[in-house]
Amino acid sequence: MAPIRNILIVGGGTAGWLAACFLAKTLGARDAQAIRITLVESKEIGIIGVGEGTFPSIRGTLSAIGIDEATFIRDCSATFKQGIRFDHWVRPSGTPGHDHYFHPFSQPSQRPGGPELLPYWLMGAAGANVPFAAAATLQKHVADQSHGPKRLTDGDYLGPLNYAYHFDAGRFAALLCRHAQTLGVHRIEATVDGVTLGDDGAIASVMTREAGALTADLYIDCTGFRARLVGEALGAPFRSVSDTLFVDRALAMQVPYARVDAPIPSYTIATAHEAGWTWDIGLHERRGIGYVYSSRHTSDERAERILRAYIGPAANDREPRMLKLNVGYRETQWVKNCVAIGLSGGFLEPLESSGIGLIEAATYLVSYLFPHDGNLAPAAKLFNAQMKTRYERIVDFVKLHYCLTQRTDHAFWTDNADPATIPDTLRDQLAMWRARPPHRLDFVTDLEMYPPSSWQYVLYGMEYATRLHANATSLPDLEAARREFQTIAGLARHAVADLPPHRTLVEHFCKRQ
Ligand code: FAD
Repeated sequence: MAPIRNILIVGGGTAGWLAACFLAKTLGARDAQAIRITLVESKEIGIIGVGEGTFPSIRGTLSAIGIDEATFIRDCSATFKQGIRFDHWVRPSGTPGHDHYFHPFSQPSQRPGGPELLPYWLMGAAGANVPFAAAATLQKHVADQSHGPKRLTDGDYLGPLNYAYHFDAGRFAALLCRHAQTLGVHRIEATVDGVTLGDDGAIASVMTREAGALTADLYIDCTGFRARLVGEALGAPFRSVSDTLFVDRALAMQVPYARVDAPIPSYTIATAHEAGWTWDIGLHERRGIGYVYSSRHTSDERAERILRAYIGPAANDREPRMLKLNVGYRETQWVKNCVAIGLSGGFLEPLESSGIGLIEAATYLVSYLFPHDGNLAPAAKLFNAQMKTRYERIVDFVKLHYCLTQRTDHAFWTDNADPATIPDTLRDQLAMWRARPPHRLDFVTDLEMYPPSSWQYVLYGMEYATRLHANATSLPDLEAARREFQTIAGLARHAVADLPPHRTLVEHFCKRQ
C-alpha cells in the first residue's frame, strides 16, 4: 500500500471542475509536498451544458473553494433561487383549488421556546386555506413579490433568507476551470480512448490520443453519462429506477426575456404537463426552459408542441435540444482505485436539483474520507454505502412530488399514483404521516440531501391529509401558535419592504468589483 500522491480527474464538466477545486483546496495541490491533481478533458466531447438550478449547499461549497459571490454571479449570469414553485401538480389547470405550491429553502419559523408550528397549522391555527409554506415562513411572500433573499449590504453568501442560485452551466464550468488552475490543478486537453487494467482489476493507466498514457494512484471518473472509467472499463452495474420515476427525455431551449428590465423570478417554476413537467429558470440575461417527459407516455413531437406552447412566441425560430436520460445510479460508485462523481455515478430527474448537490456530497466524502495512506477499500466501502442511501432517499423524495397527485387527466399521472410504483420505504413513511406529520427523527439527516422541512413543504403542498389525534395536553399552545402565525404574516410585509427587487440585487452584484 503506497500513499496517494497523484489524482487524475477525467472529465471537465461541473463534476470534474468542482471536484478539482474542492480537492485542491482541501488536499493542498499547490504545496510541493502535497498531492498532485490533474484534470483531463476532451474538447471534442464537450460538457452536457444543462444543470442550472442548485440547492443552498452550493453557497458553502463556493465559499470553501474561495470564489467570491460577486465574481460567481457576474461570471455565471447567476441569479438567486429561493425555492421551487410547483404549478398544477395537485390538479390540472382550470380546476378549483390551489393551482400551485411553493417549496421554500428557509426552514419553518421556530422561536426559541416557542411551539413547533406544523401540528398547529394542521389544526387550522394559521387560518383556512393558508398553505404551510406561506404560514410558516417569510420566504414565499418575498419570492412572490420578485424580491431577493438578501440586502445589498449583506456579506458574501449571507442573508436573512436561505437561498441557492440559478446559473449558466457552461460559464460555471469555465469559471471553475480557471479557478482550479490558480489552486494548482494541472489541466490536459485530450480524449481518453482506452483504459488499461492491472492484474488486480484496478486501473493501471488511461490512454489518450493527444497526451499518451496517464497514470495516477486514484482516478476520478467525471465523464458524464458515458462513465468511461467506472462503467465502460470497470463494469459497475447501473440500477435503473424507471419503474418509479418515469421521465426519460428532455427538450431544452434558451430564450431571451421579453424586456431587458423584466422582473426575474427568484425561484424555479416547475409546471406539470400531461406527460412530465417544464422547468423555467430565470438567469440574468436569458431564461432556460425545458420539458422533461416520459417517452412511454407521449411522443417527441407532442412534447415539442407542449414546450413551444408553454414558451409562446419567444420559441419561434429556435430549435430545442433533445437529451435522452438514463435515470438511475450505480450502487457501487467507488470501484478499486476509481470513484465516479457526477453523471457517471448516476442521474435522477432534475425536479429538485439533486445533480449538483450529489456532486458536492460525493466530493466532500472523497475529501473527508481521503485514504492518504493508500488503503482504499475501507473508504470505498463507506463511500458506496453513503452514496447509495443518498440516491435511494432522493428517489423517495422526488416520487413524493408525483404519487400524491389528484390528477387523473393522463396516464402519466395515474401511473405515478399507482402504489405499485411507490418504493416501500416511501409507502411506510406515508402511512405513518397519516396520523402525525414528518418529524426530524424520521430522517438520518447526514444521509439526506433534503432537510425534514423540504419533505413537509412538499407533502402538504400536495395536500396530504394528516389527521392529528391531538388532545389538549399534547398540543397545549394553540393560542401561542395563532399569535406566531400572525407575527410571521406581519414580518413578511416588513421583509418585502426591506429586501430589494431580485433584478436590482443581481445587477448590484454584477457591478461590484
Ligand atoms: P458532463 O457535463 O457531461 O461532463 C463530462 C466531461 O467529461 C466533459 O468535460 C467531457 O469532455 C469529458 N469526457 C467525456 N468522455 C471523455 C473522454 N473519453 N475523454 C476525456 N474527457 C471526456 N443538476 C442540477 O443540480 N440542477 C439542475 O437543474 C439540473 N438540470 C438538469 C437537466 C437535465 C436535462 C439534465 C440532463 C441534467 C440536469 N442536471 C441538473 C444534472 C447536471 O447537469 C449534472 O449533474 C452536471 O452538469 C454534471 O455533469 P458532469 O460533469 O457529470 O458531466
